[in-house]
Amino acid sequence: MSDVHIHKVPKAVADHAHINKEVYEAEYQRSIENTKGFWDEKAREFLTWSKPWDVTVEHDFPKGEVKWFTGGKLNVSVNCLDRHLETRGDQPAIIWESDDPAVDKTYTYKELHAEVCRFANGLKAEGVKKGDRVCIYMPMVAEAAIAMLACARIGAVHLVVFGGFSPDALKDRLLDSEAAVIIVADESVRGGKAVPLKANADQALKSCPSVKSVVVVQRTGGSIDWTDGRDVWYHDLLENASDDCPAEEMDSEDPLFILYTSGSTGKPKGVLHTTGGYLLHAAVSHKYVFDYHDGDVYWCTADVGWVTGHTYIVYGPLANGAQTLMFEGVPTYPDASRFWKVVEKHKVNIFYTAPTAIRALMAKGDDYVKTCDLSSLRVLGSVGEPINPEAWEWYHKVIGGGRCPIVDTWWQTETGGILMTPLPGATDLKAGSAMQPFFGIEFGLVDNEGNEVTGNPAEGILVIKKPWPGMFRTLFGDHQRYIDAYFANYPGMYFPGDGARRDKDGDYWITGRVDDVINVSGHRMGTAEVESALVLHPAVAEAAVIGYPHDIKGQGIYTFVTLMDGVEATDELRQELVNHVRKEIGPIASPDVIQWAPGLPKTRSGKIMRRILRKISENLIDELGDTSTLADPSVVDDLIANRPSQ
Ligand code: ATP
Ligand code: MG
Repeated sequence: MSDVHIHKVPKAVADHAHINKEVYEAEYQRSIENTKGFWDEKAREFLTWSKPWDVTVEHDFPKGEVKWFTGGKLNVSVNCLDRHLETRGDQPAIIWESDDPAVDKTYTYKELHAEVCRFANGLKAEGVKKGDRVCIYMPMVAEAAIAMLACARIGAVHLVVFGGFSPDALKDRLLDSEAAVIIVADESVRGGKAVPLKANADQALKSCPSVKSVVVVQRTGGSIDWTDGRDVWYHDLLENASDDCPAEEMDSEDPLFILYTSGSTGKPKGVLHTTGGYLLHAAVSHKYVFDYHDGDVYWCTADVGWVTGHTYIVYGPLANGAQTLMFEGVPTYPDASRFWKVVEKHKVNIFYTAPTAIRALMAKGDDYVKTCDLSSLRVLGSVGEPINPEAWEWYHKVIGGGRCPIVDTWWQTETGGILMTPLPGATDLKAGSAMQPFFGIEFGLVDNEGNEVTGNPAEGILVIKKPWPGMFRTLFGDHQRYIDAYFANYPGMYFPGDGARRDKDGDYWITGRVDDVINVSGHRMGTAEVESALVLHPAVAEAAVIGYPHDIKGQGIYTFVTLMDGVEATDELRQELVNHVRKEIGPIASPDVIQWAPGLPKTRSGKIMRRILRKISENLIDELGDTSTLADPSVVDDLIANRPSQ
């Protein structure tokens, strides 16, 4: 591709930041050479332990064994709440912005603490004990975070299921986790529309015998069915509960939560995270990656149903005593200026979102942005997919006014927290690159045989060479799958399933999922590069690229293209796009098929599901696989109906 422009760290940002270039280089070096010493120090600085640990880290990857801070005791809710009461009890902890632009509510640390304690007592009254699984199936209301923290307080293991999931998807997760209790809202509200959450839960619960009680948060007051003896109102539980709830002393390695991954690549996996290491990674990365300073207003737009919501709305920010904004609505309601109106209203300093949202808002044009005052913004973030350079530049210029660094953060549900990212005050930026390892993380690139590819530039399969505190400890109920999927392919290393390229400066570019790699006449290509080349064209809003069987080349390149609002899909444009990709990357990347796609199949968290596109390209419509996590199934029907003849 054309030469990469480097955005230097602005001096004002570097001067203000916790970490500048020199500090990053020295601290990163130390974190690799003396991993134990580095994390020991951070664990003392960032967390409050009721008993110190005996051993910092032990691991045996081939056996799937990882332990951090063995023997240490702490409680996550105490770290997120109690210890802040003296210093910042009256400071906002959660700023809740409703779907309705006229409604918001702030919880101070004192108020949040009191409600968490009361609800924790309420859960105990429902019979919940340490180690029990509690499902949280909720909209983006503060009670979702309160429920998570209440579970943590009494040692129950929560599993948050995204409120947009169907009764079937909910049922699968309840059965797999054998949850004892589910916490649900009567309805959720998104984009002005109510969704019947309680009715969905009732449907799922018909075949989930382990669930003994259903706690219902009243969000809309809409009518719901009620099962006496099983269902209980959240507000009734609170009314009868004391706000004094001593926290359960947890072992560092006790489970904190299970979270089923979004399912871009197949059957959801119950990723299990534990207590001490996870919270430490959440806190340290939140502070340094977003350069959080006391008093900042921080907003991560993810849903609590995703790991990003766990680590970077709830646990990381609250462990750091931050002000964290929770948004119930969608970016396009009442119109496409909503995100920016919220930034203006709450004077947001740090804003963290996903490429899918940026691309969607970019396609709506700049007028929605221009009417809003975004001068409070200081740092921007991106997560979930590779961000196309075109979208990056728009985010940087139009949203960030050219002055806010963008942290493109690479990580996974499994990793617990961010592992690869620029740091705002330390890293010169390249649009589309996740740049550098976070502290304590040592990446490698390997070829198909597992041999390390050294030197720069280099390309290969991304691996991680040693454990980090936030990594998951097992797949719930299936430890063998944990070993097989993550540690068996490249012995002694963790295999995330993504490919990457290291450029001549040693900066990393995620090229896409290894499963999605395309092989054209023996040339291997990541999906990200071809997609980004297409998005670079002014007519293209979004693109997905896959390989399909091709008689001569082995695989051909099949692209699905969503055009900008108002652009007409013509044969001339098709040819122009082919030429454009040839020019940007080379003839080898020339698309063989371009299908116009009014929408792309995405997970509920907004990631493109290329495995479904592969089936569509091959006309294997009966083999689409698990589609329960698709955001909008009608998109798939449209693509099937409009397959071009090849
Ligand atoms: P499943 O594993 O069930 O298929 P999933 O991988 O979509 O689901 P997540 O854990 O939410 O579930 O997503 C992690 C993946 O998202 C990464 O492995 C990577 O492919 C992609 N990803 C996340 N952040 C970035 C980023 N900044 N740049 C590029 N890719 C990213
Ligand atoms: Mg994954």
